[in-house]
Amino acid sequence: MKNSILEERRASILESCGIRGKNGGICCEKESVSGAVSQRACVYCGARVVLNPITDAYHIVHGPIGCASYTWDIRGSLTSGAETYRNSFSTDLRETDIVFGGEKKLTAAIDELMEKASPAPKLIFVFATCIVGVIGDDVDAVCKAAEAKHGIRVIPVKAPGFSGTKMHGYKLACDAIMTLVSPHAGAPHRFGVNILGDYNLAGEMWIIRNYLEEIGIPVVSTITGDSSYEALIKAPSATLNIVQCAGSSAYLAERMEAEFGIPYIKVSFFGVEDTTASLFRVADALGRPDVSANARVFAGRRTAEVMPIIDKYRPRLEGKRAAIFVGGGFKAISLIRQFDELGMKSVVVGTQTGKKDEYEIITELAGSGAVILDDANPAELERFMLEKNADILVGGVKERPLAYKLGMAFCDHNHERKHPLAGFEGIENFVKEIHTSINSPVWKYVKGDAA
Ligand code: SF4
Repeated sequence: MKNSILEERRASILESCGIRGKNGGICCEKESVSGAVSQRACVYCGARVVLNPITDAYHIVHGPIGCASYTWDIRGSLTSGAETYRNSFSTDLRETDIVFGGEKKLTAAIDELMEKASPAPKLIFVFATCIVGVIGDDVDAVCKAAEAKHGIRVIPVKAPGFSGTKMHGYKLACDAIMTLVSPHAGAPHRFGVNILGDYNLAGEMWIIRNYLEEIGIPVVSTITGDSSYEALIKAPSATLNIVQCAGSSAYLAERMEAEFGIPYIKVSFFGVEDTTASLFRVADALGRPDVSANARVFAGRRTAEVMPIIDKYRPRLEGKRAAIFVGGGFKAISLIRQFDELGMKSVVVGTQTGKKDEYEIITELAGSGAVILDDANPAELERFMLEKNADILVGGVKERPLAYKLGMAFCDHNHERKHPLAGFEGIENFVKEIHTSINSPVWKYVKGDAA
């Protein structure tokens, strides 16, 4: 590595040799390096993005008003029912609250919600943010007292931003879900799956749910896209958990397996290869030959429908180079495969919260010469995208300006987007978006190549 990389970051960046397990391994699953300006969000944000899609839950942010800026707008998950989750509530802690404590203000906020909110709250999450972690409000006691007083669930999520990484926030959210559903465990298991780690961005969970139901697989509960209190508490009765975003939900699946006896498999519905393989794996895991046969017929038909679209755009994309920076390792793996399907090479691949085993697969799939980064910062992304001559960056809202400032095409694959990229419908959107962005005539003007 050249000198522009911080010394403490060197172990989190490697050039792939293309062989799994032969690269010495990347340093990951660690706290961000101070001063490196990580692209990661904080612990509280990690917890909030997992819990926010529960459509009829009330979310109180116990902290300064700035923390409450994480709202529905940063997680555009859609609802078929309540719209409650699109509101955000805050105790708006000020200087005097920090000096004298915020517990009374939190109690008053819950009481006010119970008095004024419509529909009447059944479930409130209380997120304690940085300053509450410093002053030490007894949030557990306030929530417990509120549950007793109002007869509803009031679940604390103690997530000071400084208490770990965004991954820790995911874990806190999973623990909060377990606190909610555990009292409802013990009912007999029914044939059907829970979908974990799908947040119904642009209606993606509905797409997957429809596939499963067409194949003959009932969906018991969805965690947390388009979910509700009543639907969530049925989750312990499912026969199988399928985990879409492993980074945020594998821990929940592990707890549900240990405590409710529900096995789980990881799936991905991005790209032809992963979508078809995931449908087969879900069907086969349920042990019903008729369902397995249905999955194969369904996937065969939908693949045949989508392949002409890929074939149409592939000649204009073949040989182009992609940079990927996304939240979790599983999505990065799917994206490498998706670019392969288009004849493109992934030359830079990074994630915010990838795990060691995921990076090993990434190293193998990306092939020799690709730069792999964990918890990257803008300077590193910029340097390696330029060095590897990337044609497009796939990332989220924080990466978009970086691409545009470099005069590079961009594809938003994060939770602010408004169009589905999952399933067969998503494959079509993805291919068209990559083509439109890479082959836009604007880049030659930006780069000054126009005659
Ligand atoms: S103050 Fe702390 S909890 Fe709030 S947004 Fe900032 S880092 Fe996150």
